[in-house]
Amino acid sequence: MTKPSNNLPKSEPVLRIGIILPVDYRKSIEISFTNPSQYKIDSKIQISLISSKLRISKNDGDVKIIKKDIEFDGHGITVHNVPAGRGFHWEKTINVTLPGDVQITNRDGYLLVINEVPLEQYLACVAVSEMSGACPPSLLEAQTITARSWILAAVEKKHADLGIDACSDDCCQRYQGLGQMTETSKHAVNNSRGQVLIYENEICDARYSKSCGGITESAENVWDMPITPYLTSVYDGPETDIKIGWDKLFTDNPKTFCSPAFVDENELHQYLGNVDKKGQYFRWHERYTQEEFCEFFSKNVQEDVTHITKIDVLNRGHSGRINHLVLYYQTSDGKFEILEIKSEYDIRKILHPSFLYSSCFVINMDDKHIEFHGAGWGHGVGLCQIGALGMALHGYITEEILAHYFKNTKLKTLY
Ligand SMILES: [Zn+2]
Ligand SMILES: [Zn+2]
Repeated sequence: MTKPSNNLPKSEPVLRIGIILPVDYRKSIEISFTNPSQYKIDSKIQISLISSKLRISKNDGDVKIIKKDIEFDGHGITVHNVPAGRGFHWEKTINVTLPGDVQITNRDGYLLVINEVPLEQYLACVAVSEMSGACPPSLLEAQTITARSWILAAVEKKHADLGIDACSDDCCQRYQGLGQMTETSKHAVNNSRGQVLIYENEICDARYSKSCGGITESAENVWDMPITPYLTSVYDGPETDIKIGWDKLFTDNPKTFCSPAFVDENELHQYLGNVDKKGQYFRWHERYTQEEFCEFFSKNVQEDVTHITKIDVLNRGHSGRINHLVLYYQTSDGKFEILEIKSEYDIRKILHPSFLYSSCFVINMDDKHIEFHGAGWGHGVGLCQIGALGMALHGYITEEILAHYFKNTKLKTLY
């Protein structure tokens, strides 16, 4: 049954993006401007914009810094020490220069800093935060349309309690302001202005991850959500009629778009965003001694674990990602314990000192060692960014890339 198209925006929406959240426990922030004369401040207390630096604390009440001219001109508000990569091993703080307005409020004693930004300006920063401006235009356009659809569908609403559309971190979509924008990303946004993916008259909740590893994953195997036709597993190669099982990923080395047959992994660093340059993502390998494994595993489960006896995989998705496993282990007081893990995210978090590339791996273990042979990077649902790069480098156009990953969807221009 076709649903009526009711909630499709007819003009460019303004987004509310959480930059600093109450979970960051900030009581004050520092703000500066690339051009203070372009801003005015709406606040109960007297704040002067004569100096180009401000410190605003939780006791200042609600403060809104408003850009007098909403048109995009490259100037912005710089918020200092913004967290990036919360909870990951690459966590750090950065200064971000934001287009649009900035609103600062006190939420139960801690600051909530929100950037109110027109959607297309937000996307010009997001498209390249995720993929470098060196990428072919068709990839950047496909990425931009995916990002635009995702934020407009806003199905996840991870932070609905804060009244924001998304945060600026990896938990939603990485957004680091104007510093990440290039001429290339502006072009990608302008060339696809207002375009979204539509399925049955609704904007698609278009997900993406770095590398599927050969086969994309179906959304219901990763998140607690119903089967979504345009987020179901596809073989990520040119031979669309091929139906291979995940186990063939490790024996047949299929020539998929995200494999070295389409993208030279030594060249990846010039295309990938500044995330993690060290590795091979199509296939990867982690090897630990029992001692090494028990050391980080003990921290992750907060027990003194001395030996891993067995790891049983109970279920995998179509891409080979494990979403249910059981771990048998022994603690220093001689007890035998069992841990059941029921999500790909938790598996990646618990079976690694920081975060495993993906939960698609096979396990080799004995009394001395534990080894994972893995494939892909990320949850693997929707657009495979390295695969889309491989397609773009081999002449596929934006529409073909999107049609490959999001089956039976249509492109529509909203405004
Ligand atoms: Zn988030
Ligand atoms: Zn792929």
